[in-house]
Amino acid sequence: MKPDTWKRGRVNYLFFNNEIVPYEQAVVHVTTPAYRYGAMVFEGLRGYWNDEEEQMYLFRVPEHCRRLNQSLKMTRMDLTVTVEEMTGNLIRLIRKNEIRETIHFIYSAFLDGDGPMSSTGPIGTAIEIRKLGRMFDIENGIRCSTSSWRRNTDDASPMRIKSAANYQNSRFALLQAKQDGYDNAILLTASGKVSEGTGACLCMVRDGRLVTPSITSDILESITRDTIITLYREQFDTNAAERSIDRTELYVADEIFFCGSGYEVVPIVNVDGFSIGRGTPGEVTRQLMESYRAVVTGKNSDHAEWRISVYG
Ligand code: PMP
Repeated sequence: MKPDTWKRGRVNYLFFNNEIVPYEQAVVHVTTPAYRYGAMVFEGLRGYWNDEEEQMYLFRVPEHCRRLNQSLKMTRMDLTVTVEEMTGNLIRLIRKNEIRETIHFIYSAFLDGDGPMSSTGPIGTAIEIRKLGRMFDIENGIRCSTSSWRRNTDDASPMRIKSAANYQNSRFALLQAKQDGYDNAILLTASGKVSEGTGACLCMVRDGRLVTPSITSDILESITRDTIITLYREQFDTNAAERSIDRTELYVADEIFFCGSGYEVVPIVNVDGFSIGRGTPGEVTRQLMESYRAVVTGKNSDHAEWRISVYG
C-alpha cells in the first residue's frame, strides 16, 4: 500500500467515545494503557459501494461484532458491543462523511484512562473509516517469503484475539519480507507448520482441493476464511480441508491465495522463489475471487444475510 494512496483515503469525520468528531480530534493520550501496552482490540471490516444500485453494503457485521466481543472478553475489558450499536454507529459515520465508494473500517475498543497495566477500564471506542479499494495487484498476484519470524503462539499472545499488540509480530515479518525484496510474508507456527499471512489467512489448492490451516494453527479466526470455505462448498460441491499444512506443501501447491476483509482474495504466485502452479493466478483462485467480489458488492443476490444496506 503506497503512502499517498493511503492518505487520499482520509475522511473528514471519525467516531470517538460515542461521538462523531472531526478527524483531528480522534486522539488517544500517551498515558493510556492502550498506548503504553497496546491494550486495544479491534475489527477490520469493509463497506462496498455498488454503483448500479447507488448503495453501500456492510459485509458480515454480526460476525465481526461477535469476534470483537470475544476479543474484549479474553482481554478482560469490561464492554460488550451489540450488533445494533455497531451497525448504527457505522451507518451514522458513513452518512455523515457522505461516502459513496468502497471503504475499510477499524472498529476498536481501547483501555483509556491513565491506570496501570492491571487496569481493566475505562474503555474507549473509536471507528476509523478510510476509502480503500484493492490493496494488491490481483491480476498478476504477489510474491511471498516464508518468514523466519514465527507466529505468536496461543499460550503467549493468542492470535484468536484481534489486538493491536499482536500486529508487532506481523510487522516484523512484513518489514523483513520487504527488505528481502518480497511483497509479503507467510508465517509459520512455533512448530513449523503454516499459520497465516501478516494480515490475512492462507488457502492453497493441492490436487484440486482447497486446503487451509485449521483454527488451532495460531491464526485469527477469519471471517473471510469462513466466507471462502462456504463459497467453495457451494460452487465446487465438496468441503475444503481444514488441517495443518507443511511449508514444503506450499512449494508444490497448484494455487495459493491470501484472504481477509482488507486484502479480499489475493493470489500468491511465488513462495521463497518457487513458482506456484504456472506462476500466474490459478483457476480456483480466480473463480473464488470473482464470486467473493460479487457477494460482497451485492452483484450476486445470494447470501443477502451477509449484507446490510447503508443508504435508503
Ligand atoms: N489474520 C490476520 C492476522 C489478520 O489481520 C486478518 C485481517 N483481519 C485475517 C487473518 C483475516 O481475517 P478477516 O477475514 O476476519 O478479516
